[in-house]
Amino acid sequence: MKVNKKCRCDKCGCAFVPEAKILREGEIEYTYFNCDYCGKAYIVSVTDAELRRSIRKYRTLSEKLNGKPLSEQTLREIAELKDGNTKRAAQLRRMYIREG
Ligand SMILES: [Zn+2]
Repeated sequence: MKVNKKCRCDKCGCAFVPEAKILREGEIEYTYFNCDYCGKAYIVSVTDAELRRSIRKYRTLSEKLNGKPLSEQTLREIAELKDGNTKRAAQLRRMYIREG
């Protein structure tokens, strides 16, 4: 997976185009990339099986948005899923990433 955006490394100050990689530890999946120059690892996101399931569900539902008018209830369900996923992702980050 290529992220078409250059970023600057906090450690060495070099600009590079990050290439995201995935590391699995049990049901926890880390998406990360390394600085091309000094190798510093940057974690993009952490997901567990439940969150990945919920993200898939969110995508499936939002794909239905293309063209078709959806019921109020479905729209609310999509918003709640998105909200829940965002919160869960932030929680997992705090649990699994030791930053700094
Ligand atoms: Zn660097």
